[in-house]
Amino acid sequence: TTTRTMLAIEGLTVGYAGAPVIDGMRLDVPHGAVVALLGANGAGKTTLLRTVSGLVRPRSGRISLDGQDLSGLSVEDRVRRGLAQVPEGRSVVSELTVEENLHLGALWKIPGRSARRAAVAEVYEAFEPLARRRRSMGHQLSGGERQMLALARALVARPRVLLLDEPSLGLAPRVVAQLFAILRDTAERTGLTVLLAEQNVTSALSIADRGVVLGLGEIVADAPAAEIAADPALRHAYLGF
Ligand code: ATP
Repeated sequence: TTTRTMLAIEGLTVGYAGAPVIDGMRLDVPHGAVVALLGANGAGKTTLLRTVSGLVRPRSGRISLDGQDLSGLSVEDRVRRGLAQVPEGRSVVSELTVEENLHLGALWKIPGRSARRAAVAEVYEAFEPLARRRRSMGHQLSGGERQMLALARALVARPRVLLLDEPSLGLAPRVVAQLFAILRDTAERTGLTVLLAEQNVTSALSIADRGVVLGLGEIVADAPAAEIAADPALRHAYLGF
């Protein structure tokens, strides 16, 4: 059986000033796959995610979502078509409760108050620690809970493709394991497609179907996660261990 491509990147070149950071990239992300996007610091992982979400305009190339060309679309239009990004760093609103933060995630994406309430109730099922903290203020949460809330808030609107930038940053290994388990479980239950940029290579590959390694503006490897994890030369050359 062939899997349909959810996110297709063709001939993508992106740069700021000077030499391109991403140079003629081609990448197919299958529907429902969890893809770990790996590479040394500065390899271009954040740039790629920001280009897909529409925050950075490419010099050339094409990105399509489920066969629809995204070129020229604003960030908001891309969100309406099913893209969601959880940015690096925490985007939780400190002065709102957990529940209010989740409603904010649904606000302009799900029409109707009762539909929004149902969507929030649904994420609580997957994110039990958040359900217990629903009345807590954003600023009262631990780093792990904040990252969990940022993820849950992105999922409330039921995106088709989720872009995550270093969700494990600053979190204890046990908390990373919990967060990634929820992510994996959500992908399996809902068919969500995930592009996960991570420096935490081992954790990312442990929940990913595929690993994509960036180096010098190009994809140097695109293979099943287990193969990437088992390749010492690749790890040594591009992943720093
Ligand atoms: P990190 O893990 O540090 O975030 P990364 O793989 O995500 O690394 P990028 O953040 O995409 O890499 O950066 C790739 C290159 O582009 C780096 O050389 C960086 O200095 C440069 N760069 C990133 N953002 C900008 C910007 N807004 N303006 C100019 N150069 C930038």
